[in-house]
Amino acid sequence: MGDKVSGSVSTSSLTSPAILMDSEHWEQQQLATSCGYSQHMQQANLGDGVATARLLSRSDWGARLPKSVDHFQGPAPYVIIHHSYMPGVCYSTPECMKSMRDMQDFHQLERGWNDIGYSFGIGGDGMIYTGRGFNVVGAHAPKYNDKSVGIVLIGDWRTELPPKQMLDAARNLISFGVFKGYIDPAYKLLGHRQVRDTECPGGRLFAEISSWPHFTHLSETEGVVSSTAAPVEPHVHPKAATQTPLAQSPPAAPKV
Ligand SMILES: [Zn+2]
Repeated sequence: MGDKVSGSVSTSSLTSPAILMDSEHWEQQQLATSCGYSQHMQQANLGDGVATARLLSRSDWGARLPKSVDHFQGPAPYVIIHHSYMPGVCYSTPECMKSMRDMQDFHQLERGWNDIGYSFGIGGDGMIYTGRGFNVVGAHAPKYNDKSVGIVLIGDWRTELPPKQMLDAARNLISFGVFKGYIDPAYKLLGHRQVRDTECPGGRLFAEISSWPHFTHLSETEGVVSSTAAPVEPHVHPKAATQTPLAQSPPAAPKV
């Protein structure tokens, strides 16, 4: 984990910084606007090997523009971990990019939300994909959407543990957020199930994050939001395989 930080650091308030991260340094490689437009596809620069993770901008994965963007004042006191359930795990970057587009399609077109619900996605390729970004109100955890960073680990993690590069990328992202001031250094790490009646982020992944720094047990009264609550953008995960997953469209189709 990159506790030591060097390299160029911008003090401007950005919601979607595109960065190169590795075990030795964080390098802010390219800056994007709040709508996430970068000028070109960033080329991988993974010379340092396995510990490297990269944050890709919205334009990298072909995001549609958000319908609107609502900011909240950081730093965020909570980090909330999700799994996507569907789409399933992706191991190549093109595949993970498509998974991001599929989730955005589902959330924005099917659900009618402003954008993909999550702040960031993590692929099985070890890459970090900018969703709404830091300090943008999300649609992933009612009551916490305006005070958290919502990170989805793409895949179904009920019984399987995400691959190491995926877990490392998630932890690197949190460290980066703390370093940049987007996440409170005293943040509380939660699984989605702690604040809503859902199996998300899956039992195996939840057990894993329970051992991470800053994981916090919430009391009954502090945590779960009644399902009768009416958040502005209710976040829904398919709960079981018998339930209709995502859209009935190509998004959920197996990748070739
Ligand atoms: Zn969730």
